[in-house]
Amino acid sequence: MPKLYDNHGRLINYVRLAVTDRCNLRCFYCMPEEGIKYVARDALLSYEEMLRLMQLLAGMGIEKVRITGGEPFVRRDMIHFLRDLCATEGIKKVNITTNGTLTEALVPELKAMGINSINLSLDALDRDRFLAITRRDAYDKVMQTYEALLDHGIPTKINAVVMDGKNTQDIIPMAMLTKNDPVSVRFIEEMPFNGEGAHYEKLAWNHRAILNHLRAHFPDIEKVPDPPHSTSYNYRIPGHKGTVGIIAAYSRTFCGTCNRIRITPKGMLKTCLYDDGVFNIRDIMREGASDAQLRDTFLNALGNRAKDGWEAEQNRTFGLPVQESMSTIGG
Ligand code: SAM
Ligand code: SF4
Repeated sequence: MPKLYDNHGRLINYVRLAVTDRCNLRCFYCMPEEGIKYVARDALLSYEEMLRLMQLLAGMGIEKVRITGGEPFVRRDMIHFLRDLCATEGIKKVNITTNGTLTEALVPELKAMGINSINLSLDALDRDRFLAITRRDAYDKVMQTYEALLDHGIPTKINAVVMDGKNTQDIIPMAMLTKNDPVSVRFIEEMPFNGEGAHYEKLAWNHRAILNHLRAHFPDIEKVPDPPHSTSYNYRIPGHKGTVGIIAAYSRTFCGTCNRIRITPKGMLKTCLYDDGVFNIRDIMREGASDAQLRDTFLNALGNRAKDGWEAEQNRTFGLPVQESMSTIGG
């Protein structure tokens, strides 16, 4: 079976699958307060279609899948789909990104089925700031999920988007979570995927500003090796059990080693976060494409991949600035 290499010689072994664009939060950096116009249910990839795709991609070398959204757990029967996905031959790691609002009760099952790790989105430890950012009163539920993940020993990363004037006071308290908890707390540059266009003219809290802020409070913070294909620069505060990461998602410093593709809730393949979609897999499947035809379509798409996010953004035909919500892409 042909493997998925792009035209820059990069092997693609990781897919991010956004299973829904729906969400029960309204995070400032992701969606407008009034929400977005959701995709009709029959326009979403069905579980059967997603499993077929994952089997096909596993045959082409995909080993790692991240389930994201929207909020994955607002989609009915997600747990059954996850069980089938974990049992798919060739898929070695299934990871999930969740806002944690509906996740706590499912943690034992996620552990039992062998979920590899969970990224929990949590942008503030202060309850009022959490409410102001997410526009929903769900702080306790998210913290209960955090505790359950630690109790069950599921490797956990916290994703915190850093926003000027919204949560920079939380950077140090969040980094302090790594003192006693074996978690990775990752600070993410805000990208302009909020459904409204850019919030600022210039990103004040870029990766350098975040690191300088951490260094000012933790002068001994030390660099630790970054795993291959890592999107985060990783650090440890001496004596702490966990690590701290910084993700330069806006500055795009990590494109050179990119090993991932994205599939959106309505089946669009994105070979880069910043492109506007390469082809619609759902339509091709619903027109009756064979597995061989689908494989060819993937290979062709990867054969014309932009070298980095800057080039992908330049090539957009939907225009700039980006107007999409991250919940339609998956992050
Ligand atoms: N609802 C789930 C959650 O929030 O974890 C999964 C989907 S969410 C779109 C995936 C990740 O994208 C989250 O960690 C979120 O913080 C991040 N994200 C969303 N919008 C972003 C933006 N404009 N800039 C940077 N990260 C963003
Ligand atoms: Fe929902 Fe996740 Fe977007 Fe927040 S970041 S609105 S939780 S999809």
